[in-house]
Amino acid sequence: MIIRDRLYIDGQWVTAAGQKTLQVVNPATEEVIAEVPAGSAPDAAAAVRAARAAFADWAAAPLEERAAWLKKLAAGLQARAEELATLITAELGMPLDLSRSIQTDMPLDIIEGYADMLDCFQDEHIDSAVVVREPVGVVACITPWNYPLLQIVLKVAPALLAGCTVVLKPSELTPLDAFLLADVVAEVGLPAGVFNLVSGSGEEVGEALARHPEVDMISFTGSTRAGRRVSELGAATIKRVALELGGKSPALVLDDADLSAAIEATLDNCFINSGQTCDAMTRLLVPEALYERTVAMATEKAKAYTVADPVGSKAKLGPLVSARQQQRVRDYIQKGIEEGAELLCGGGEQPAGLKRGYYVQPTIFGGVTPEMTIAREEIFGPVLSIISYKDEEEAVRIANDTDYGLAAAVWSADEQRAHAVARRLRAGQVAVNGGADNLIAPFGGYKQSGNGREMGRYGLEEFFEIKAILSPQK
Ligand code: NAD
Repeated sequence: MIIRDRLYIDGQWVTAAGQKTLQVVNPATEEVIAEVPAGSAPDAAAAVRAARAAFADWAAAPLEERAAWLKKLAAGLQARAEELATLITAELGMPLDLSRSIQTDMPLDIIEGYADMLDCFQDEHIDSAVVVREPVGVVACITPWNYPLLQIVLKVAPALLAGCTVVLKPSELTPLDAFLLADVVAEVGLPAGVFNLVSGSGEEVGEALARHPEVDMISFTGSTRAGRRVSELGAATIKRVALELGGKSPALVLDDADLSAAIEATLDNCFINSGQTCDAMTRLLVPEALYERTVAMATEKAKAYTVADPVGSKAKLGPLVSARQQQRVRDYIQKGIEEGAELLCGGGEQPAGLKRGYYVQPTIFGGVTPEMTIAREEIFGPVLSIISYKDEEEAVRIANDTDYGLAAAVWSADEQRAHAVARRLRAGQVAVNGGADNLIAPFGGYKQSGNGREMGRYGLEEFFEIKAILSPQK
């Protein structure tokens, strides 16, 4: 049992204002594995005070110095990489091998990448004006559980590099990696108040941060529901609000595509992290003429997605993060059946041989129509909907017929054709023919998938204020 009984505020581990705690449950064993403080509004206020007090000096520190701190943080985390991966698997349920590469190596690469990104701070000249980039101020970072450390560093690393100070409120389901990050912050001796950690619920700590007049910006990743609430609260003091929200992303397979490659990549993308991925391709759009072949190939390929204990097995899928999430996904599967979609494989029952753990079988529905609930709402579980279309026009219409716009994929043997379709899709990132992961390309949503961008230069720019200093005309 891991007991974390303090919050990290103003460079110290301090006792929370209240006595309440949050329990962390291992979703594979259903056992409580840790306890962390359930912080409250006074804790959030203390953290904001510390961040505000630290802001002027941090913002004024030379850029190279802030970058050097990021390198120290990355090195400190690297030294504890195996512990991190193990912790994230215990709190989240992702298979350990994947936790090593995706949940640990990737966030470390992102910190390193920002530490080298020094050329985005150049002044710009517009006639007689000089345009300078300055840090926005105190940033509250509110993060979800599905890629817990990744989502933290996508905010904290660029915010710190930009010269902002930070209060982090991690997800109540997966706070342990954030505590390890705070350990490293303390170990390397980052100046007091630059990074603060307050664990607690969204309603209590998250809302206190969103309301607080001394918070200049909220960088939020999570559900559209909570993003809306944070925006409403932040509006009272005209905060900058950057939102990375949900998705219902389409993989659009054109009639000349390599069908096998498209199906394989879509299944990989839809089922990774047991479907708990914001940009998961959960709608597979195929021409009517290819529908039967798609169904046969997808159900065959789905057999490779083994569900098992995330530790000590060759599992591709571990459990979902919580009993609540498992039930939510099961309810969607039931709804799909009730609304007339054809259950091709998987289903709501506990996978064979797994007596405990919040598992859901990889599930594929055929005959899905665009108005069905499973085609419209974010399920956040390993559930794929296959939808057929008549022609390219209809395909683009169905792909865009969603409240979301986070990501999409297009498949075609003709790259130019694929790019032309990609440009018609209302989404922040479109992968053409399995486009490679890119940790410095902008990532973010159109429509209700959010606003603002993360990753690379675009992610850094979110944390800048832009000032024009005007001189007399010469
Ligand atoms: P969630 O919205 O329930 O929680 C996210 C964070 O917001 C948590 O820290 C939570 O405590 C906090 N929160 C909840 N209610 C709040 C409130 N009223 N005020 C302030 N903070 C509040 O989401 P979740 O279940 O943790 O994560 C899943 C969601 O996140 C999915 O919808 C997924 O698509 C989305 N997500 C988006 C991205 C992206 O980059 N677009 C990445 C990962 C996850």
